[in-house]
Amino acid sequence: MNTQTGKINVQTENIFPIIKKFLYSDHEIFLRELVSNAVDATQKLKALSALGEAKGEIGDTTIEVSVDKDAKTITIADKGIGMTAEEIEKYITQIAFSGATEFIDKYKDKTPEAGAIIGHFGLGFYSAFMVAKRVEIFSLSYKENAEAVHWSCEGSPEYIIEKGDKSERGTTIVLHIAEDSEEFLEQSRIENLLKKYCKFLPVSIKFGTRKEYNTVDEKEVETEVDNIINNTSPAWTRKPSELKEEDYKAFYHELYPMNFEEPLFHIHLNVDYPFNLTGILFFPKLKKTLEVQKDKIQLYCNQVFVTDSVENIVPDFLTLLRGVIDSPDIPLNVSRSYLQADANVKKISGHITKKVADKLEELYKNDRKDYESKWDDLKIFIQYGMLAEEKFYERASKFNLFKNTKGEYYTFEELSNKLKPLQTNKDNKLIVLYTNNASEQHAFVEKALEKGYEVMVMDSPLEAHFIDLLERKNSDVSFARIDSNTIDKLINKEDALPSRLSEKEQNDLKPVIEGVLPDKKFAVVFESLSQDDQPMQITNPEFMRRMKEMQALGGGMSGFYGSMPEMYNLVVNSNHALINKAVKESDENKKKEILKQASDLALLSQNLLKGEDLTKFIKRSFEIITQ
Ligand code: ADP
Ligand code: MG
Repeated sequence: MNTQTGKINVQTENIFPIIKKFLYSDHEIFLRELVSNAVDATQKLKALSALGEAKGEIGDTTIEVSVDKDAKTITIADKGIGMTAEEIEKYITQIAFSGATEFIDKYKDKTPEAGAIIGHFGLGFYSAFMVAKRVEIFSLSYKENAEAVHWSCEGSPEYIIEKGDKSERGTTIVLHIAEDSEEFLEQSRIENLLKKYCKFLPVSIKFGTRKEYNTVDEKEVETEVDNIINNTSPAWTRKPSELKEEDYKAFYHELYPMNFEEPLFHIHLNVDYPFNLTGILFFPKLKKTLEVQKDKIQLYCNQVFVTDSVENIVPDFLTLLRGVIDSPDIPLNVSRSYLQADANVKKISGHITKKVADKLEELYKNDRKDYESKWDDLKIFIQYGMLAEEKFYERASKFNLFKNTKGEYYTFEELSNKLKPLQTNKDNKLIVLYTNNASEQHAFVEKALEKGYEVMVMDSPLEAHFIDLLERKNSDVSFARIDSNTIDKLINKEDALPSRLSEKEQNDLKPVIEGVLPDKKFAVVFESLSQDDQPMQITNPEFMRRMKEMQALGGGMSGFYGSMPEMYNLVVNSNHALINKAVKESDENKKKEILKQASDLALLSQNLLKGEDLTKFIKRSFEIITQ
């Protein structure tokens, strides 16, 4: 074959500046595209060989990637099917260029999406021009009597195609890196990119430096480091029946080498209708926060890493999970807004949500004790899911648990049955008492337990929204934090005890108490409690507190409640001996002193006595015991 020159038939004089600028926002993608082409070529050869169409030994098929910093080249060499001159003209030049023309026609008047458009137009190979000023192909087809071929293109529509000298089957792509992309000539950069995108590709990939001969001191300066980058059969591509628990754990650490915790359990996904999807999802031990996870779900397309920002592909609450999803049916190379609208993507979301619910239900049913032992780490995930997805709410209602202060677990149904006889109000509403901090609210919790009530521990950051959701779904149930009122007011059964203080005595006492309180956020209220109850206690009314909490978390509420100051009640027990003593005290100073000491103690017990007030209280207390 003689050397020929050809000119690509596109209207646009030079498409390369356009490709360079708009094809991908991330230039590093070129490596993924070229290595996946090498993998495709190898897989095609294996398929042809299995069919008996490719004769001879396949031999070793390791793909080799290398960087030569001095020559400023990156080389990707495969031992796949190779290409004849006709095939290069057809697959590389014509098809890709027509794809490029289509691409330009479509996007010339639009601002390109930040995402990628390649797969859509079959332009993968041309992403090489995002980083290279010249690209060469050396290829020898597997076909009998094929001639080696050399193609070279300088980033303009002109290219050279001529007889080559490649003697082994396969394709070698040489990129002559452009000045503005020399960062890619760093060994570590390429190695990291291979580990990011190619870690689980199905054909072995070797990364090594080239031996370089230094002519000045006549010796080799860089030794070759042969380094296999990938695991060619990662766990998710294997049958669940072949894998043991340890294999899943090992895979978890392979995915997240910097994470030393063990996952709680996993779900092996395997769907082939109505779309193809495989993968393994792991439940990590979740902290009590919704911080953005460092280790994220990774999305693959035929074992090629695509992204780990899976927002819009899986429902938000599932992003708390870890693992891998691999689907050839998600249009992975197109923009995000396109993804969101894609029908397959919607189905995939629904499917994953269902699988997750199935798994949780199975764990709950098969071994409740074990499920309970994992509950604290699962809770935030399940609450988030129930808040986010109606379907998940319905499923999870059966296995969502509530834990009491003694560490016993109930489903909502079990809890309702348990509370019915004792914790119902006069109007037949079920009252669920809860604490978000059993140690800070110790006195309140004790009081409730003394009365034989259950106190649930509800301390996740989503609790305010979650409780609101439960109350909306179950109109006969009401949640009350244990410090939101006195226990007799919270579970209000019989009529209140008669008060030892008359209306007038209360009205006279109220301004005196208000006068000794440190500020205005405390409202003084009288209650006729038992003589054994504390003379004064601070409560934090449920409604306002909850509104503020929901506001702080964001979502739903107007700014109104959030901007309100914090409000507490100072509940005065009108039946307590100390209060009666204060009423009867004729010395005004003495009276104030008693009330001040009592209210300071109530504040102190809720950690609300601060600064100068606290200092004075301590000084005064010492004086009292010195007297
Ligand atoms: P796609 O991979 O989506 O088909 P590309 O632009 O990446 O698009 O590649 C175009 C075509 O060029 C491929 O379909 C294949 O036929 C051919 N090709 C690219 N790289 C190789 C290779 N290393 N070996 C053999 N054929 C290749
Ligand atoms: Mg490709």
